[in-house]
Amino acid sequence: MTNKLLIVDDEVAILRALSRLLTRAGYQVFKANSGEEALSIMQQQVCQVVISDFRMPTMNGAELLAAIKAQYPETMCMILSGYTDFNSVVALINSGTAFRFLQKPWDEQTLFTEVKEAFSTFHSRAHQQQVNLLMSNTAEALVELHPNGQLGRVNGVAKQLFDFTQNHILLSDMFPYCTDNGVSALFEDDLHTITMQNRQGKNVELHFKLATDNSRFFELHFVNKNDDAVSNRKPLAAFLDKNELLSSVDGLIKSNTHFAMIAIHLKNYSYWTDMMGLPESTALFDEITSTMLSQSKQFNASLSFLSDEHFVLLLDNYKSELDLHKQLTDFIEPFNTSKFSDKSVHVEFVITYCIAHEDGDNAQQLLNNVLMSNRLYRSSHTHFFMRYDAAMIEQKRNQLLISKALFHAVENDELFLHYQPKFDLNKGKICSCEVLLRWNHPELGNVSPGVFIPIAEQEGQIIELGYWVIESACKAISSWTQKGIHLDKVAINVSGKQLSQVDFIPRVEALLSGFDIDMTKLEFELTESWLVDNLEESAEKLTRLKNSGISIAMDDFGTGYSSLSYLSKLPIDVLKIDRSLITDIVHNVNTQSMVGSVTRMAHDLGMQVVVEGVEQIDQIKLLEKLKCDVIQGFIIARPQAEDHFTALISNADVSIASVMGKI
Ligand code: C2E
Ligand code: MG
Ligand code: MG
Repeated sequence: MTNKLLIVDDEVAILRALSRLLTRAGYQVFKANSGEEALSIMQQQVCQVVISDFRMPTMNGAELLAAIKAQYPETMCMILSGYTDFNSVVALINSGTAFRFLQKPWDEQTLFTEVKEAFSTFHSRAHQQQVNLLMSNTAEALVELHPNGQLGRVNGVAKQLFDFTQNHILLSDMFPYCTDNGVSALFEDDLHTITMQNRQGKNVELHFKLATDNSRFFELHFVNKNDDAVSNRKPLAAFLDKNELLSSVDGLIKSNTHFAMIAIHLKNYSYWTDMMGLPESTALFDEITSTMLSQSKQFNASLSFLSDEHFVLLLDNYKSELDLHKQLTDFIEPFNTSKFSDKSVHVEFVITYCIAHEDGDNAQQLLNNVLMSNRLYRSSHTHFFMRYDAAMIEQKRNQLLISKALFHAVENDELFLHYQPKFDLNKGKICSCEVLLRWNHPELGNVSPGVFIPIAEQEGQIIELGYWVIESACKAISSWTQKGIHLDKVAINVSGKQLSQVDFIPRVEALLSGFDIDMTKLEFELTESWLVDNLEESAEKLTRLKNSGISIAMDDFGTGYSSLSYLSKLPIDVLKIDRSLITDIVHNVNTQSMVGSVTRMAHDLGMQVVVEGVEQIDQIKLLEKLKCDVIQGFIIARPQAEDHFTALISNADVSIASVMGKI
């Protein structure tokens, strides 16, 4: 197997140097200068080892490795980065996403050693996975036999037949006739037949067969001398392989049986392998599979083992979802102790299910659906049994489409800005505006920010989109200044994910230095939840922004914690009360008194109060009475394209007169 290595870095010079070095060392090297390119290379060439830079635009190293691990869990990922990213990288290593951290500038010898180790770990894991498959996916009793005569791993079928309780048993314990010398003799020939008595005192004829030339595996075929029939039927408690699983499902469908297909994903298996090393994790794996097998026997269910971490269970006595949940709870009961096995690990599963025939017409479709929903629920922290949900899968598919398209939105010129005026109730005029991002995709059409912003935040595109918004807003402000249009403030939405970037402040400073703009005209709107969740980091970063003259607004107040206690800990200038808090303000006195006291407290802390989503005249009247400072909403104007917006504020007297007239 060729050793394929993918290196990812946004600096071409680094890519070139690394590629030269590693090609000379004998690896087949692929290069990508962004996370997106790396993912598309992986689609065509699955590389066993990936070395990625940490800081990259659009998708950083952590996001890329998480995406690679999700799709190609066996890949060995390494981060090559400067020391400043150390803490983030340690988090990656602790989560099991990255295998090693290589420091820039690299030392050649260390680099070679680490790459070599990554490949050798990959190959030994792949071998182990094959062995796991071989051990589990066979109807035969399989026993690993070391040349010294000691028994190694014993698969579930063998365990059932010989009722092993000890971990290390000599073959001679099992079969008194077989001496240690006899064992070494076994390695010399290909096939042996020995007749002997097993523990239950039955005569069995054993055919020992070497599975491969260098493997120490023996398949034990049992012939019962008493009735002379070859008992190589699959015992009830053996794993089905994938084809057997599909044909069992076909059979159930044909017989019109109401059944459940359950995907069981073993969480953390590769993490254990990293943490405990192969021998221990393998022993643990064996314990898990044999427990699974004995459970399936008890439940009279078929169990299939698809790969190291994936099992599929068929329960053909389906009555109701409630009953199924109960059965599944009982099924995993033996794993529910905090100390399953003597390895003191907590065995966790992600369990999803499909019900036939509602959730799929045929065996393959049911299997696809149950596995796909299992993959989707893996990233969530749910501890329940989740049923396949077609609508959710469709939604995820759309999200994926949007996410992919978003990566190209800037370069394809699909983004533009809208501006929504804010009306100052004290001054009686429009003094400021909020910049709102818009996206028009050639196929998807106009996608609402309510849809694409959360995806961009989750998938990372928000970082680059955010810089694009700041830059484009600055261009607009400069052009307004030239036209003699002056606003007190222009507010830009900044996502918490942007602020959490280590280089956010220097990048913003560098970007703003390219414009001749008075910084005090800029306001950054941040949402409450991120600021509060990261109070210390927020306070420090916001103070730095404030020192450069930018004001800070807390957006969407009222949708999250809605507590004022932490506000004094953050350098906030403006509190933006969310629309949801004022929808019923006209008729609800409780809302009125709440908005009134929030406003008073905010004023006491020196903050201005902006109310968003104002749609009715009566709301304006009340908000004025409650001493709110600024209102924003459809009643003043909807967010609009730049030319309309500038026309509106140039002709402000008309609109102000009309708004004031309404008041
Ligand atoms: P937001 O920052 O709270 O922006 C206000 C949202 O309320 C805007 O929705 C605006 O169109 C809407 N709105 C304003 N007045 C009214 C009204 O009277 N009635 C109603 N029903 N809605 C009103 P939009 O443009 O759809 O944006 C939704 C959210 O997307 C924004 O909420 C903001 O969180 C996010 N967003 C928009 N642009 C950006 C951006 O450039 N960067 C980031 N990070 N987020 C953005
Ligand atoms: Mg906002
Ligand atoms: Mg808001």
